[in-house]
Amino acid sequence: MKAPVRVAVTGAAGQIGYALLFRIAAGDMLGPDQPVILHMLEITPALPALQGVVMELNDCAFPLLAGTVATDDVNVAFKDVDYALLVGARPRGPGMERKDLLEANGAIFGPQGKALNDHAKRDVKVLVVGNPANTNALIAQQNAPDLDPNCFTAMVRLDHNRAMSQLAEKTGKHNTDIKKMTIWGNHSSTQYPDLHHATVDGKPALSLVEQSWYESDFIPTVQQRGAAIIKARGASSAASAASAAIDHMRSWALGTAEGDWVSMGIPSDGSYGIAPGVIYGYPVTIKNGKYAIVQGLEINDFSRARMDATDKELREERAGVEHLFAK
Ligand code: NDP
Repeated sequence: MKAPVRVAVTGAAGQIGYALLFRIAAGDMLGPDQPVILHMLEITPALPALQGVVMELNDCAFPLLAGTVATDDVNVAFKDVDYALLVGARPRGPGMERKDLLEANGAIFGPQGKALNDHAKRDVKVLVVGNPANTNALIAQQNAPDLDPNCFTAMVRLDHNRAMSQLAEKTGKHNTDIKKMTIWGNHSSTQYPDLHHATVDGKPALSLVEQSWYESDFIPTVQQRGAAIIKARGASSAASAASAAIDHMRSWALGTAEGDWVSMGIPSDGSYGIAPGVIYGYPVTIKNGKYAIVQGLEINDFSRARMDATDKELREERAGVEHLFAK
């Protein structure tokens, strides 16, 4: 058995946290031979609820759970962590503008970035789930000047998985038959789910579906899936968000399959004409814990317009939070 690694989860007593922690402890994220110590962060009023979660974790008697830390102190939560899943965020309240939301989240993700900078392992892998995830990741990254900027990522994997499931249903295939799905840009309604490079059973996806379905059905369905789930369930998606977070971290830690890729929100290096620095959804392959953007994909005018629109939104979000960056 390997030595335990430390995994931080923020917002640990929330809906996604509840769906996430048990799967990490069961080995779904890092594999069946990797013990974990769970570091759970919550705001002070949620600590009693978090104690209940810890009791349940203990009651599962997970063979891989090597310890738990439950705290409202960010410096304790991020001490020596190898992985950090930043889930807790300020939800948008009634009448709250996007600007107010970014500001409120800056107050959470700025200090968390600083605490990661001061306490986490130097090769910590950080995934931001709490919305607006891409820009929250940027705020954390910009408050962690001593860490490699590439330690900070945002989740577009749920969009990626939703796109796989929509395409599988349409073509009558299983999602395991689908390769090379891509989500470009922001985890928001401007995201661009791109089928131009995807294959189904080795055949180009766009040769199997009508262009009208792609444009008028597939893209909006993936973009608005979160709202559809809230309408159906009366609560936002939690288990699927947790599952996508597990997928994101597992791919990052253990690598992508030969001949396939995954979508991750990562710091742009300018590839595909995107503004350098914004946290943008890209297709990536991963080896030995390092991700690399898939290069050389042909981008037509249809894709270009959509990739630029989501880039523009991310640049605007960045302009709104730049005052929260450490100097
Ligand atoms: P959830 O666990 O349901 O959601 C947490 C965050 O994940 C939200 O920002 C939510 O965004 C986001 N998210 C990203 N993708 C999805 C998705 N597909 N479906 C749903 N949510 C998604 O929220 P809860 O309110 O149940 O729990 C949040 C917890 O975080 C609370 O216990 C709170 O106390 C805690 N918290 C902790 C902080 C900390 O640790 N410092 C700071 C702030 C809060 P969206 O709002 O857009 O749905």
